[in-house]
Amino acid sequence: MYNIALLPGDGIGPEILSEAVKVLQACAKKFSLAFEFSEAPVGGFAIDSCGHALPEETLELCRKSDAVILGAIGGPKWDHLPAEQRPEAAALLPLRKKLGLFANLRPVILYETLIKASPLKREIVQGTDILFVRELTGGLYFGEKKRVEIAGGEKATDTLIYTTSEIERIGRLAFESARKRKKLVHSIDKANVLESSRLWRETMNRLQKEYVDVKLIHMYVDNAAMQLINHPRQFDVIVTENMFGDILTDQASVLTGSIGMLASASIGGKVALYEPVHGSAPDIAGQNKANPLAAILSVSLMLRYSFNHAKASDTIETAVLRVLEKGYRTADIMQRECRICSTSEIGNHVVEELLA
Ligand code: NAD
Repeated sequence: MYNIALLPGDGIGPEILSEAVKVLQACAKKFSLAFEFSEAPVGGFAIDSCGHALPEETLELCRKSDAVILGAIGGPKWDHLPAEQRPEAAALLPLRKKLGLFANLRPVILYETLIKASPLKREIVQGTDILFVRELTGGLYFGEKKRVEIAGGEKATDTLIYTTSEIERIGRLAFESARKRKKLVHSIDKANVLESSRLWRETMNRLQKEYVDVKLIHMYVDNAAMQLINHPRQFDVIVTENMFGDILTDQASVLTGSIGMLASASIGGKVALYEPVHGSAPDIAGQNKANPLAAILSVSLMLRYSFNHAKASDTIETAVLRVLEKGYRTADIMQRECRICSTSEIGNHVVEELLA
């Protein structure tokens, strides 16, 4: 019996998580697994219902669960709040920090059948298969922030801090991941300008001596942004700091057709957290239009990483592929001659394929 904390959150979060749960329940049936789901408030919904974006009870539930599944949080309704009370700052970042989730794994895989959904040319994107290893609890998002009055206005400061040990643990994970793939790591930094990046680069070079079978290439983040779109097939594993990873993975989602396809696993602590890469998509929330495949692929990562059920995980991924091959699509990945489906229809199709 696996105890799963379910945090649907805001916007499309609840809609896409319902489909992910549906798929997990089908998996339970097929592979004789048992999941116990406990739902808890987080984000804007938690602000409205409990007065805080990350209630203590929610955190406690996550700590005692075997894994956490998160939908998405945030939205215009809470944008007027002071920065430190907004859902992203008051829930998402502390949740990651308090669960010790220092690494976010984001596979960027282009399914052959979605090649035309990508705005980029077939010859560029075909064969894209990248694993992003993003540092998640350090860097600019967690360093000290300050705002002071000065003559003529204000002065705002964000601080980008990394320590050797923080870089070593994410670097090791990247090298270990590459060993199971094509043995190539691109480390993305801005070492020509940033001191934290110089420490990052020196540490990665030192670590590489422990992984001589893995090739290490350094790339500046501005070049990486261009290379990702120009020649994505050159990459295998990309390791980078928190903010660069945040931006580059959204950009990389374009390679796969839509951000609605990108799953992620946040690991490093006792309990791992699984969530789609996208946000709460307020523009389409509540309309049964959102693509649930990123959420469904996130629970597939959960089965693989947290519960060691590679077979169940493979089965979900194959079911997703079959659904796409049969031409079922949400609006974000719609192509000519395909059939447009709602969020829940896509979930039903994945379940059908899984149980077939
Ligand atoms: P977003 O990812 O929510 O949306 C960007 C665009 O992608 C929108 O057009 C949206 O409709 C589309 N999109 C996203 N997910 C989709 C899906 N599953 N299916 C189809 N289309 C999808 O990013 P944003 O608009 O910059 O942010 C909206 C809110 O989400 C903000 O409050 C932001 O802070 C928050 N956010 C939360 C997370 C998180 O919870 N992990 C991550 C990013 C942004």
